[in-house]
Parts: sequence; structure tokens; C-alpha cells
Amino acid sequence: MPIYEYKCSKCSRLFSVLQKIGMSEKDTVCPDCGSNNVKKLLSAFSCSAAEGGAFMPSASADACGGGGGGGG
Ligand SMILES: [Zn+2]
Repeated sequence: MPIYEYKCSKCSRLFSVLQKIGMSEKDTVCPDCGSNNVKKLLSAFSCSAAEGGAFMPSASADACGGGGGGGG
């Protein structure tokens, strides 16, 4: 579920609400004062960056299987 940022127009409080897609902001009330006079903010911080990285083990496949010559 997406998280929407809201701002209360009454107490100017910022809060995030976990809403389903299709829900209206009219169903959202301020958790601080309980007023439904809230405004939806644009979520501009929609970026997922994975910090760190996995170390790839350099597997040196050197075993090609050379032709064994064992002549007698
Ligand atoms: Zn409020």
C-alpha cells in the first residue's frame, strides 16, 4: 500500500497515512487534532536506493580439463 503525506490545515501538522489506492482524502483525519481539513502532499521522495552492494565472488573457472597425454 502506498503511503501518502498529509498536512493538516488546522494545526499544520504533517503526517503520513497508509492508504489504499482509490481512497479519498476525505476519509483522512488529522491524528493530532482530529480535523478532516487535511491536504494531500505530493510525494517527491519516491526513490528506492539500495545502499551497499553484494560482493560477487570471483570464481575463476580455470578447470577446463586439459587433455591428459599419457603416452607410454
Ligand atoms: Zn491537525
